[in-house]
Amino acid sequence: MATLDRYGRRLGNLRLSVTDRCNLRCAYCMPEREYVWLPRKDILDFEEIGRLADVFGSLGTDRVRLTGGEPLVRHDLSKLVELLAAKPWLKDLAMTTNGVLLEAQAERLRAAGLHRITVSLDTLRPERFRELARVDELPRVLRGIEAASRAGFASLKLDTVVIRGVNDDEIVALLERAKEWGAEIRFIEYMDVGGATHWSRERVVSREGILRAISDAYGSVEALGAEERAAAPAERFRLPDGTTFGVIASTTAPFCAACDRSRLTADGVWYLCLYAARGIDLRKPLREGASEDELRALLSGAWSFRTDRGAEERLGLRERTPLRDVPDLRRDPHLEMHTRGG
Ligand code: SAM
Ligand code: SF4
Ligand code: SF4
Repeated sequence: MATLDRYGRRLGNLRLSVTDRCNLRCAYCMPEREYVWLPRKDILDFEEIGRLADVFGSLGTDRVRLTGGEPLVRHDLSKLVELLAAKPWLKDLAMTTNGVLLEAQAERLRAAGLHRITVSLDTLRPERFRELARVDELPRVLRGIEAASRAGFASLKLDTVVIRGVNDDEIVALLERAKEWGAEIRFIEYMDVGGATHWSRERVVSREGILRAISDAYGSVEALGAEERAAAPAERFRLPDGTTFGVIASTTAPFCAACDRSRLTADGVWYLCLYAARGIDLRKPLREGASEDELRALLSGAWSFRTDRGAEERLGLRERTPLRDVPDLRRDPHLEMHTRGG
């Protein structure tokens, strides 16, 4: 049974953040020196996540993406994958990772039932990686992608956040490398989400800019028709040699109208939009013994009133600066992208 919000959007897709911790410090996500972390006692255990996931499943959610922070720093993640993969309502189980710990875990995750994997990769240059992520881990990320490519996931994708003056000269090199791995690459516009405290409009390379760089190198780029476009948000394109790639224009052409995503943080706070100021605490009722019916009523009630279209609203702003400042983020780490999951 589908649960619809005020604009008729399904509660279809759950982004499950399994930790707020991360082993990288990407400049577009965690540029600060210090962070406030979620208290460990608040982090949901796998059984609790499984129970909440079932409530989502009973309301029509059929796709789950594990994210974070960095999901692979969560101890025994493959056990959670196994638990979720066995859910009869789940059609698609995916994960987004930075790849640092993937080499050792790729096969185990595949065997546990993870269908699809997306690895974030913004540069192929070690020096640049160190500047961008503040850790010297590019070789391990590349080995992680190779391991994922061998492990036989139903799909392997790469996500690249394109930032002007940082990595916009590597679009073609990344596309070529993705081809070698049999991966589809998606170029993402730099977003002014919570945590992106160094964001500025000038740093955003728009969808047009990304496509221009690609067509300058390859000649024509064919937009794929709606039927070939995977579920939002990526728009897909094809090069003359048949290679496909995606562009996620979340900043200049957001896709809120089709957004069926909600987000659950590692401590059980549920957000109806990436840009939402407030979430709904599911941990408290869960730990106080709420029944599945009670949790279902809470979720479906909240979703049925959902009118969020955060990125579209940002588009209307004349002065666009980072969404949250550092004191706000310190006061409430749930406002961070790395807490609510990308
Ligand atoms: N740590 C994992 C990773 O990096 O793949 C998963 C969590 S991360 C928050 C999920 C995605 O959000 C990554 O692909 C990352 O590139 C993207 N992201 C983070 N900050 C962003 C920003 N300011 N603009 C666009 N994408 C961003
Ligand atoms: Fe980078 Fe992902 Fe970590 Fe954010 S959560 S700093 S995007 S690796
Ligand atoms: Fe969905 Fe909010 Fe992102 Fe729009 S801004 S696509 S409503 S999560």
